[in-house]
Amino acid sequence: MKLVLATSNKGKVREIKSLYSDYEVLPYSELIDEFEIIEDADTFKENALIKARAVFKALNDEDVIVIADDSGISVDALGGEPGIYSARYAGADATDKDNLYKLIDAIKAKGLKSSHAHYTAAIAIVTKKGEYSVHGWMYGDALSEARGEGGFGYDPMFIPLGYEKTLGELDDETKKRLSHRSKALSLAKVILQTL
Ligand code: IMP
Repeated sequence: MKLVLATSNKGKVREIKSLYSDYEVLPYSELIDEFEIIEDADTFKENALIKARAVFKALNDEDVIVIADDSGISVDALGGEPGIYSARYAGADATDKDNLYKLIDAIKAKGLKSSHAHYTAAIAIVTKKGEYSVHGWMYGDALSEARGEGGFGYDPMFIPLGYEKTLGELDDETKKRLSHRSKALSLAKVILQTL
């Protein structure tokens, strides 16, 4: 089964390919030119659906199955920020590093070394047969420092519950077992098997 991802985020593509090694997975940018998708909803689920619908429409191929991931980190001490704004926390053209250090500074500004936090992933599936969505979460602590180079995005500042190392320090296999994305993609697999 061929699955087209409505993202070109290298970290997400790498993780989804690794979790879906039994499927042929490719980012939509390998089929058509990348285009801007305005994610203006106020939930992860709706933003994932916006992306999946936009790519399904642009591909103009009834038989394709499009998967979108909308995800982010929510920090308790910051009232759940950045949440759905995780990708643009430090501005519209922010890099992963800009966002990471802005979040570290925001936790420091509260006079904290860490705060409880969680990642959310909403996965949307759009096909000619219909639209589906599932979620996964990973709980832990967000630190006021970055440790390690593994993962992507906010991973160097996030320690999963029950661990002492950040996702930047832990190996890919550990993140694969624990992550919000893995949990949502396992649920999405059940839906894919019915299509
Ligand atoms: P999206 O592409 O609009 O869903 O943005 C997701 C944002 O959340 C990006 O800034 C990512 O770096 C961040 N993010 C989502 N999942 C992860 C993860 O597994 N690790 C680190 N950062 C993540």
